[in-house]
Order: sequence, then structure tokens, then C-alpha cells
Amino acid sequence: MDNPLKIVMGIETSCDETAVAIVREDGKILSNLVLSQIKEHKAFGGVVPEIAARAHMDHIDTLIKGALDDAQLTFSDLNGVAATSGPGLIGGVMVGMMAGKAIAASHNLPFIGVNHLEAHALTARLTDKIEFPYLILLVSGGHTQILVAEDVDQYKRWGTTIDDALGECFDKSAKLMGLPYPGGPNLEKMAANCQNPTQALEKFPLPTPLKGREGCDFSFSGLKTAIRNHVEKLPAGDLNQDDIADLAYAFQITVGKVIVDRCQNAISQFLSTYGKTTKSPTLVVCGGVAANLHIREVLEDLTKASNMDFMAPPMGLCSDNGAMIAWVGIEKLKRNMLDTLDIAARPRWPLDKGAEKRPGGGVKA
Ligand code: AMP
Ligand code: MG
Repeated sequence: MDNPLKIVMGIETSCDETAVAIVREDGKILSNLVLSQIKEHKAFGGVVPEIAARAHMDHIDTLIKGALDDAQLTFSDLNGVAATSGPGLIGGVMVGMMAGKAIAASHNLPFIGVNHLEAHALTARLTDKIEFPYLILLVSGGHTQILVAEDVDQYKRWGTTIDDALGECFDKSAKLMGLPYPGGPNLEKMAANCQNPTQALEKFPLPTPLKGREGCDFSFSGLKTAIRNHVEKLPAGDLNQDDIADLAYAFQITVGKVIVDRCQNAISQFLSTYGKTTKSPTLVVCGGVAANLHIREVLEDLTKASNMDFMAPPMGLCSDNGAMIAWVGIEKLKRNMLDTLDIAARPRWPLDKGAEKRPGGGVKA
């Protein structure tokens, strides 16, 4: 018998989390398992693609079984299987896709190949039923973009980084400060130890790339270089932890300023384009860096001042997870946007197919 509410399994393996979840059409997360590979990659100070792919292989079956057990379901209760099909580390993406396709083929279920970025972008609809169109700040380890979500599979990219992604800038700056992997959350923890914020900002002046310029693009490589220069000027030997707390604090405040400036432009553009026809104009922040409390705070203040709603996913749904993949599966299943089993894994997969490459920008632009 057909379920009255669709139920989809979501599989995520695009980076260093193996994740499987089962989600119901009404937004209920029936199970949600995430196995982080932090231990496997720690010694290398970052994610090693080959190690990641092998770890996904080792654990994917157990997680699929675990997700079914937690939800007290069997494959026959599912209405579809969704798996991240890109963008991401190709070896890992292939592991998750093969698992998803195998389930779909053997149980005669529809298969949905999910764009990982779309999964971050649509999490706001899973948790809060946000209606299209809405404004998105997507900040992750590989991407930093400002987008408008007009519908499922319909995005306008208004801004992107012309060099490093914000998560990458957090991670590399953290590494320069001698903080352990994963850098972003450890840098945030370190910043919280800063004893004298005013003094920290005077001691470690940092650039605010592109601040004050038109548009919604980002640049972070200069900020990272400035961190390197400050660290190199610190006394040789073991880094003083008070200095690092001050530097981490200055870094985070600077990132906040850049984000507010860029999002301010995006909000003006959004309100003038969609304001009249949108009931509750909303800014959604998503991606791993959306877990950062300072970033959430500055965005909340900014949206309040602009009469916009603000939405950040619950912490557990900021980092990579299977629930967001299952949710895109549900959105696409409802619209009959299904894939055949010959869909290929894609290392790059822009959300806005019409977005032009930024002149002078790097590979991500
Ligand atoms: P994702 O690419 O979406 O999986 O997100 C991972 C990225 O988010 C990594 O670069 C992390 O360092 C970063 N990240 C996670 N938590 C935080 C945080 N609390 N503050 C800053 N960056 C973070
Ligand atoms: Mg991600």
C-alpha cells in the first residue's frame, strides 16, 4: 500500500561525514545518523579524499541498516532513495550514489541524485516550511554564495567568492594559528577566550575585503594572508594562547563585518526585486559555517534592521547530514523530478546554471 505521506531515505557522502537519514513528507525526521571522520583525517590537518572514500565504503552499509532500524522501517516502507550526486569529493560521492542506486534498483524505488548545495539551501523548508522565494547566504567549506531560491532547482546566484570559501578561510586561518582540525569550530572556541576585545582589535588590524563595494561577491584570501603575517610576527616558539585568542577574535569580528556588508547589498536587491510580492521576506543562512554563533548574531541584527525574517537551521542540520538530502528527495519526488540510474557523480554542479564566471575570479567563481 502507498504511504499517505511520502518517506525517503537520504544518503550523504560528499566530504568527511557518512550520513544516512529517513525523512517524511511532513518534515518529520524519522532517523538521522551522522558518522564523522574527524579521527581519520586529524593527523593530516584536513580531509584526505582517498581516506574519506574508503571510510565511507567501510561504514555506509551499517548506517543504512541503522537508519532503518532507528525509524523502525524496512526498505518496503520507503517511497524513494536520494543520494548526494555532487558537488564534492568524487570518490565519496560515488560510494553514496552506488549505495543509493543499489537500493533503488533492488527495491524498485525512484532514485533522486541530489545537489548537495541545494540540500543546504532547502533545509529551511524542511525545518520551517519557508516559502519561495527567499534569500540565502550559503557558507560552507567549499562554497560561499548569495543566492535567491525561487523554486526547487531554480536559483539565482547574486554573489560568490572570487577566491577562497569562508569555511576554507576559517580552516586555513585556524591552522596558521596552530589550532587543530576541524579549524572553524576550534577557531570559534578560541575567540571566546579573548579577554580584552578592544585591545585585540587594535593589536591585530585585519583587512575587510570588498567591503563598501557594489554587489554581493566575497573575497577571503587577503584575510588569510593577513592572519599569516600576524602569526609570523608573533614571538618564535610555542604561540602564546592569549595572543591566539585575540587573533581568533579579531578574525571572527572581521568576517562578521564583511558578511554584513555583502548581505546588506543582497537584502536591498532582494527587497527591491521581490519585496512587493513576498509575504515574509526571509534571509536563510546555511552550510557548515552557519553553526558560528557570531555570524548568526550579526545576521539576526542585520535582518531585524531591514525588516526581514532570519532563519538559521538547528546546529545539527548545519553540517552535512542525510536529512537534508532526503528532504530534497521528497521535494523532487513530489514534483516527479526523478533521475535514472545512469546519472553520473559530478565534482562541480552550480545551483544557478546561468551564472556567469566572475572576471578574474578563481575556480569557485
Ligand atoms: P560544510 O562544507 O558545509 O560541511 O561545512 C564545513 C565547514 O564549516 C568547515 O570549513 C568548518 O570549519 C566550518 N565550520 C563548522 N562549524 C563552524 C563554526 N562554528 N565556525 C566557523 N566555521 C565552522
Ligand atoms: Mg556541506
